[in-house]
Amino acid sequence: MAFKLPDLPYAHDALAPHIDEKTMQIHHGKHHNGYTNKLNAAIEGTDLADKSIEDILAGVSGHSGGVRNNGGGFYNHSLFWSVMSPKGGGTPSGDLGAAIDKAFGSFDGFKDAFSAAAKTRFGSGWAWLIVKADDSLAVTSTPNQDNPLMDIAEERGTPVLGLDVWEHAYYLNYQNRRPDYVSAFFNVIDWDAVAARFAAAK
Ligand code: MN
Repeated sequence: MAFKLPDLPYAHDALAPHIDEKTMQIHHGKHHNGYTNKLNAAIEGTDLADKSIEDILAGVSGHSGGVRNNGGGFYNHSLFWSVMSPKGGGTPSGDLGAAIDKAFGSFDGFKDAFSAAAKTRFGSGWAWLIVKADDSLAVTSTPNQDNPLMDIAEERGTPVLGLDVWEHAYYLNYQNRRPDYVSAFFNVIDWDAVAARFAAAK
């Protein structure tokens, strides 16, 4: 069964001024739509066509480059939209807040680690907060459209927060100022959505 581009859970201009309307229109309607269509074309008629995206990514070393790039692009952007909200920002509480304090010393410790991963990823890629096999949290980053679910990832785990640092994600509004985009992202993180992913991943 073909994968479907998920609807944005808010209007294109809902995350402005942190992420602008035009960027959201192109990012979701062109880039994410393109990954979705190319993934479907790559798996059509193969034994991957009836697998979940998570299963496909877990065995990605055995698949084509098209499945790796477009399967990653499909999954990564679906997660990205879901962990942002116009009501976002602030800090996590509850089990997630406690796990962040345990792993990074404090929320600020997490913010520093995540921001550094996002700013120092050379070229295109993603920064992640992941749940590892022992249920602990870690910050990592991946190139291109790779992600921590993939069996080729340096550090594997279940992503609960991701930030797209491809230039297409910020160039219209921030030009080359990736650090400003990374800072602004913290104003739209939906910590309730991240906490729900954390609870499901453990
Ligand atoms: Mn993107």
